[in-house]
Amino acid sequence: MKRLACLLLLAPAFAVHADPAFERCLAGLKPAAAAKGVSAATFDRHTAGLQPDPSVLELLDAQPEFTTPIWDYLAGLVDDERVADGRAMLDTHRDLLARVASAYGVDPETVVAVWGVESNYGKTFGKRPLLVSLSTLSCSGRRRDFFRGEFFATLKLLQDGDIDAEGLNGSWAGAFGHTQFIPSTYARIAVDFDGDGRRDLVDSIPDALASTANYLKRAGWRTAQPWGFEVRLPPDFDTSLAGRTRRRALSDWTARGVRHHDGSEIALSSLPPSTQAALLIPAGRDGPAFLVFRNYDAIYAYNAAESYALAIALLADRLRGGAGLAAAWPTDDPGLSRAQRRQLQQLLLDRGHDIGEVDGMIGSNTRRAIQAEQRRLGLSPVDGRAGRRILEALTSP
Ligand code: CA
Repeated sequence: MKRLACLLLLAPAFAVHADPAFERCLAGLKPAAAAKGVSAATFDRHTAGLQPDPSVLELLDAQPEFTTPIWDYLAGLVDDERVADGRAMLDTHRDLLARVASAYGVDPETVVAVWGVESNYGKTFGKRPLLVSLSTLSCSGRRRDFFRGEFFATLKLLQDGDIDAEGLNGSWAGAFGHTQFIPSTYARIAVDFDGDGRRDLVDSIPDALASTANYLKRAGWRTAQPWGFEVRLPPDFDTSLAGRTRRRALSDWTARGVRHHDGSEIALSSLPPSTQAALLIPAGRDGPAFLVFRNYDAIYAYNAAESYALAIALLADRLRGGAGLAAAWPTDDPGLSRAQRRQLQQLLLDRGHDIGEVDGMIGSNTRRAIQAEQRRLGLSPVDGRAGRRILEALTSP
């Protein structure tokens, strides 16, 4: 009995000091933080009682279980719901966006499209405590040096009073707020646009939208130039010329027979013939093709992924009243909007699959349930993909 009582007494203290290696690591980071301008008082205040979260290390090393075709990615990010929400935001923040455009030279639709893709217009900031994730990744895992920089940048932002520690959540890798900047980008790019003396991308929409515009401006945005547009290629076109970094003069592309998607000539009056452009064919020659200019690269700089930049560009076009893509993606099983994804998840729940919440996010539980249904229905391939075919198969009586 004595032994058990002793263990019970020890248990709470043991839980608080569960990871001496982590505490030693944190203590060892203090001088390096000080070298980045983080005072000892700031460091102590925000690291007291921090516990590591090993689950972020699993995410650091996770290989994606499934690859997402570009048409699925775009169907979720550029859906009618995000277009309608974005138009409402353009309306609500019209004066602010006009001031942002005049200060940074970036149009309202592009700024709002970035906002919509990054945080669904401020609705999803990420759920993980930022200091916990960044301190864990600073002390374990294969990118410690990188995450230490982000951890110190966060402490500096707290010290400077830009952000509050209370409820400071973000993605597992440290992106947070309306614009989902990582802390070092925040430190470099964020601006105080509402004039309260703080650069607050968590609670201030003016600061967030102006900071997005500032990012694009610094990435080389050219005012009043298009990001690009959808084009049509001649039948015998040499597709080896495609690629974001393979720029040629616009006049060279038109000489090779590249036209607007409706077949009309690309007018060289609105853009100088020497304007550098690249050809994108994200799904090969049978899918949509695009000519892109300098502003596409500025969007790409925000998050270096072709599909990401295209999502923002195409959402901005829809916000301007555009009809969407003219050419179809080369698939007989198109992607689903978020509303359709929620419908699919509800159908899976109704069939007894334990997929958690109906949230329109296709995670591994939803994928496994889809695989089970694909198998049951004799569909092929059994790939767990949330596409129109499985939705229709489950909807039909
Ligand atoms: Ca501010």
